[in-house]
Amino acid sequence: MQLISRIPAGPLEKKWDRHRFEMKLVNPANKRKYSVIVVGSGLGGGAAAASLGELGYNVKCFCFQDSPRRAHSIAAQGGINAAKNYQNDGDSIYRLFYDTIKGGDFRAREANVYRLAEVSVNIIDQCVAQGVPFAREYGGLLANRSFGGAQVSRTFYARGQTGQQLLLGAYQALERQIALGTVKMFPRTEMLDVVVIDGRARGIITRDLVTGAIESHVADAVVLGTGGYGNVFYLSTNAKGSNATAIWRAYKRGAAFANPCFTQIHPTCIPVSGEYQSKLTLMSESLRNDGRVWVPKEKGDKRPPNDIPETERDYYLERKYPSFGNLAPRDIASRGAKEVCDEGRGVGESGLGVYLDFADAIRRLGADVIAERYGNLFEMYQRITDEDPYKVPMRIYPAVHYTMGGLWVDYNLMSTIEGLHVIGEANFSDHGANRLGASALMQGLADGYFVLPNTIGDYLATARPQKVDEKHPAFQQAMAEVAERTTRLLAIDGKRTVDSFHRELGKIMWDYCGMSRNDAGLRKALQLIPELREEFWRNVNVPGSDRELNQALEKAGRVADFFELAELMCIDALHRGESCGGHFREESQTPDGEALRDDENFAYVAAWAYGGEGSPPTLNKEPLVFENVKLSQRSYK
Ligand SMILES: Cc1cc2nc3c(=O)[nH]c(=O)nc-3n(C[C@H](O)[C@H](O)[C@H](O)COP(=O)(O)OP(=O)(O)OC[C@H]3O[C@@H](n4cnc5c(N)ncnc54)[C@H](O)[C@@H]3O)c2cc1C
Repeated sequence: MQLISRIPAGPLEKKWDRHRFEMKLVNPANKRKYSVIVVGSGLGGGAAAASLGELGYNVKCFCFQDSPRRAHSIAAQGGINAAKNYQNDGDSIYRLFYDTIKGGDFRAREANVYRLAEVSVNIIDQCVAQGVPFAREYGGLLANRSFGGAQVSRTFYARGQTGQQLLLGAYQALERQIALGTVKMFPRTEMLDVVVIDGRARGIITRDLVTGAIESHVADAVVLGTGGYGNVFYLSTNAKGSNATAIWRAYKRGAAFANPCFTQIHPTCIPVSGEYQSKLTLMSESLRNDGRVWVPKEKGDKRPPNDIPETERDYYLERKYPSFGNLAPRDIASRGAKEVCDEGRGVGESGLGVYLDFADAIRRLGADVIAERYGNLFEMYQRITDEDPYKVPMRIYPAVHYTMGGLWVDYNLMSTIEGLHVIGEANFSDHGANRLGASALMQGLADGYFVLPNTIGDYLATARPQKVDEKHPAFQQAMAEVAERTTRLLAIDGKRTVDSFHRELGKIMWDYCGMSRNDAGLRKALQLIPELREEFWRNVNVPGSDRELNQALEKAGRVADFFELAELMCIDALHRGESCGGHFREESQTPDGEALRDDENFAYVAAWAYGGEGSPPTLNKEPLVFENVKLSQRSYK
């Protein structure tokens, strides 16, 4: 497999501009002759489908929810980054670029990250024009707050509901195109395969989740904006429906999967409370602007938090990282929490928790200001835990949140299958080994509104795909395979529920491929996962039929894919013998317990190619070349 990154030549600041000039354009009158499939209606897919419709292409957009408005993006809380420097606190495009490259522990492409920082400023203008109600200062200017890994305030927000407001903006733009007839929307429709003809993506196979009908859709190009795969761990902050099926099926058709083991564990989530919990709840990183993280200095101190005097508290992030303090990046803050809990200083019944305390901020600013900034988050916390965070500190613990890995894409966001583009969290893109807070929304919208609409035109104008239709044998064969798999799942008629398998898989992943990883643990996981997968295909019980709404059947297909992806994640984690960002290999740490990179041997993107049924995947390496930043040991001290 060849990995051609298509990074344009020339100075960093000129690459995108020059590339846009050099790319081929599709004549406006010819755009309606091309059809594009966009799978996903979140911030990535929704923005792309609306923009492509506006440009004049014939677009079909798919989502598995009942409305595009319910994509997981709606859950995003804290904010979206942009290098506007409204605060006059020293921000710039270069600083956002640098923070992102460093935050990702030098495992992302310079050119992509610079473009992201450049485009970030346009996103805010576009969203304001759409009417997104960003928070404003008293004088009317847009307000900003800080997120982890940055010493400037560049995060734009709408209370704790930024994703919801941004998605409503994208959704309105999408609905406008639907009304104009340029976009046809297919809700409650799940993509189950991508069809590749002569090396090019030419369409998809879908299942109507209400009637069970399996159908073919032909197009000149296919875009996947299908989100992340954190739910492979079963417990995560992702929406329950988020899954890897679209990208996994594309992988099996030839799209390389990059850095699958790069997972982000978010430090501020409500701790797990029992065996049968089905999901975890994020408490936005924005809370670390005003909340202070601490644990008791003494092991096993079970006093209520407000009875523990100041001198007996350990504000460990402020102690260890004085320059970034509570706003240390997520991977570092998560490991900090794990470390103090492993020492026996964790709080709450399970001992797997640390405090996030607002008492100082409330004293300094008043409860009203805190309510204005985080009111909905405090309410959510109180409803779930029955504790009032205005009076007692929140209890938080790290949880799986985001996946930096995803399908490999070149600078044009095209995968290793020609014509298959991948955007948003579904691609491996710009965040290296650790994403900074508020950068996912930025990337999804950058891809959907500003990058893809340019690059897909170049693909169509250059490739000029020949006409094909659903009668093509490749479509017929893919449809038959999808139907066969569905029948097979229903026929097993075993004794265990899909969820019980998923929960067990998630536990294996959390224990051996979670916050820290080691050689022996990963090898153990690689033995346990195939055993459990074998039992799944022998003993899972999927009730109902394929001719009706059947959520057990939907889940079974997704969990079957998670099994295979989990194995690839462990293979990737095992091969990457260094620590970087969220990938912490216990064998590779500095004397004070920080992640120790090995640039000599691992400064590359690991892009895995499917090896066929029963054969191991093959590793392809895209070397990462740093011409503008100096590789250094990441320090937030
Ligand atoms: C609780 C939470 C809070 C967050 N807060 C922030 C924040 O404040 N700032 C920030 O920058 N990031 C945040 N993130 C991360 C961010 O929300 C996501 O990375 C981003 O929204 C992903 O957008 P997306 O468009 O790539 O995918 P999604 O929003 O997940 O959309 C995926 C779309 O693909 C569709 N789809 C998937 N598979 C299929 C299939 N097989 N067939 C058909 N359709 C399919 C779905 O229906 C959906 O429409 C947060 C994440 C979580 C979990």
